[in-house]
Amino acid sequence: DTVLVTGANGYIAIWVVRKLLENGYNVRGTVRKAEKGEYLKKYFESYVRQGRLEVIVVEDITKEGAFDEAVKGVHAIEHMASPVHVDVDDPEEFIRPAVDGTLGILKSALKNNLAIKRIVITSSCAAVSTVAPEARTFSEADWNEITINEIREQGQQASRTTKYRASKTLAEKGAWKFYEENVKKEGRVTWDVVALNPPMVFGPGIQEISSPSALNASLKSWYDFVYSPSASSAKPKDAFEVSNSWVDVRDLADAHVLALEKEEAGGQRIIVTQGAYIWQEWLDIANALHSSLVEKPSNPLPKGFPEITAQPQSLTYKIRVMPAISQLTNPTAESPCDRWNRLHRDEGS
Ligand code: NDP
Repeated sequence: DTVLVTGANGYIAIWVVRKLLENGYNVRGTVRKAEKGEYLKKYFESYVRQGRLEVIVVEDITKEGAFDEAVKGVHAIEHMASPVHVDVDDPEEFIRPAVDGTLGILKSALKNNLAIKRIVITSSCAAVSTVAPEARTFSEADWNEITINEIREQGQQASRTTKYRASKTLAEKGAWKFYEENVKKEGRVTWDVVALNPPMVFGPGIQEISSPSALNASLKSWYDFVYSPSASSAKPKDAFEVSNSWVDVRDLADAHVLALEKEEAGGQRIIVTQGAYIWQEWLDIANALHSSLVEKPSNPLPKGFPEITAQPQSLTYKIRVMPAISQLTNPTAESPCDRWNRLHRDEGS
């Protein structure tokens, strides 16, 4: 089977392409500019030679019928292209590509291809959770409506995060509305929709990376806390205590493959997460690894504020302040520290 992956050069998408290829699928990836596809073709050279990977250009995903050609002949779609990190004032610069791109691919699929069985939309926990004043658990039943109102009220003054979060909420809502109206009710086509909602995504980047400043947004924030002494020391102590949920990019890519294969995933939104973290935990892990791997580290990593994690009661509290989304989908969720300790112990090293 052939799977269409949009925004195939992105941090998460290139892992999805890789896992699809490794699992025997053929892939057609879209990029915005031909030169963005060159790295992909080189990275997956052997698959290109076997005729199993094709890279095509879809310049502007907001154009009517942008995906009409791209969807022809494929059996499933993983829609991942969406603005994540752009410096713009107008919220529409986020919202239009997110919403029109998502609706556009559904419309193109409806019009041009009756062989498609499933369309996976990479949504986000940004479309699920809000900043909660006290500890609470979010689930797939929750919607982040607040950011939509904030955009209405604040317009250009809204923060970049708010613009991004509103774009993801509106895009996913739009997809479900379209699905309900056109697919479910009218029974017009044979495909269904799955929305995957990851929180912060970390883990190895295999995309084209020219410099740390060109990293995608989630890896850039990880780099700025964990690896870059100058960026890290500029942050206040309480930034290291902020808690959020995360998932490893390789696990998320596996989830994208499973979302195509599991019949029962159809019609579901699915939070895909490993568990909660606070930034200081990553620093503790990085420092422990660094000193065990490098005998005399000449480039010390930032230490952050180890006293934060030295106090278990404070850590427990902080982890529960922000959404503990993971509890519902992954009852055995463990913190990055616990995970690393377990793996370390299991390896017997
Ligand atoms: P990247 O920035 O690495 O990839 C984004 C992809 O979308 C790139 O291919 C990019 O193309 C494309 N894109 C960006 N803006 C537009 C636009 N206006 N029109 C068409 N294509 C566009 O980000 P990630 O890999 O992190 O994100 C991939 C998806 O996962 C996104 O939908 C994001 O919202 C979602 N997500 C990411 C999370 C994370 O922590 N990383 C968490 C939750 C969800 P180009 O290279 O040409 O700019």
